[in-house]
Amino acid sequence: MRVLLIEDDPMIGKAVQQGLARAGMAVDWAHDGREAELALAQHVYDATVLDLGLPRKDGLEVLITARARRNNVPVLIVTARDAVSARVQGLNAGADDYLVKPFDLEELIARVRALIRRHAGTGVATLESGALIVDPVNRNVTLHGKRIELSAREFAILEALMRNPGAVMSREALEEAIYGWHQEVSSNAIEVHLHHLRKKLGADVIRNVRGVGYRVSGPE
Ligand code: CA
Repeated sequence: MRVLLIEDDPMIGKAVQQGLARAGMAVDWAHDGREAELALAQHVYDATVLDLGLPRKDGLEVLITARARRNNVPVLIVTARDAVSARVQGLNAGADDYLVKPFDLEELIARVRALIRRHAGTGVATLESGALIVDPVNRNVTLHGKRIELSAREFAILEALMRNPGAVMSREALEEAIYGWHQEVSSNAIEVHLHHLRKKLGADVIRNVRGVGYRVSGPE
């Protein structure tokens, strides 16, 4: 899961970035409105955490521009503007949810997860493919009822594949989904993780579509 955090306050930003990363998400952090716009134009995100009071371009304008460009990324507004009118404005401009500062970090993470779930069109928290069940909240994976231990990266790759059941994801798409900015990615990192994953889960769970990428089966 890749999340864009848009926040100019260094302390709040750092706390949110670390919290989301701990929850297994790759986080890109934009510190002002223009940087946020550039990021939204260049990458596909699973969710965005948007502060409204931003330098260079107001958060509400960033949101309005993104929606005008048909960017449908789920947006959680986090703002100190607790006036009802500001929240209503944000929701009317296309935000999906909001939190008022100061907020509880666990609640923010739970809301981001809920937005991603709703966006994927499923209200359920677990992802399933055949006998494989992935629980992104508790970071559990079971196959035929047996718990499988995965590294953080392996889990992130599997989660990305499970959120797109039946679809073939290229190596580049998987890198996009699990690495944030400033993270060095060696050229064969994804293949190495996939190799370990397929050893742990069996080669028939994650299919290699030669020359194209990888996929897990969709619902039967
Ligand atoms: Ca701010």
